[in-house]
Amino acid sequence: MNSHVQFRRCHDFVDGVLIEYYVDLKEIEKYFEERTRNIKSKKNIILNKSNHNCWYCGQSLENIARDIEHQTPKCKGGTNDISNLVYSCKNCNSEKYNRNIEEYRKWKLGKDINFNGIFYGESL
Ligand SMILES: [Zn+2]
Repeated sequence: MNSHVQFRRCHDFVDGVLIEYYVDLKEIEKYFEERTRNIKSKKNIILNKSNHNCWYCGQSLENIARDIEHQTPKCKGGTNDISNLVYSCKNCNSEKYNRNIEEYRKWKLGKDINFNGIFYGESL
């Protein structure tokens, strides 16, 4: 056996029977690296929808706390698909409650605003 290869002992129950097996640690690392890359690229796709700005108020999200938001809330049938997800600042997320985007913008900003030429409410 190659002395540089490390294995991790894993177990699973299969039909109530404990099965033990060994997995190459490099394979586990590869799996998590790939998973991390996928998550990062999904985050970037969502952030790019609003040029890394808050979907609701338009401020930059570069150096502030942010949350992922469902455009169509899950309680109204919205999914976790990328097409239904946007980023907002923590402030907007906590203030918005169950208002839709137009209601929230009117309440927060006094009017519908088209920030930097981007219409944030437009579905993509
Ligand atoms: Zn905001």
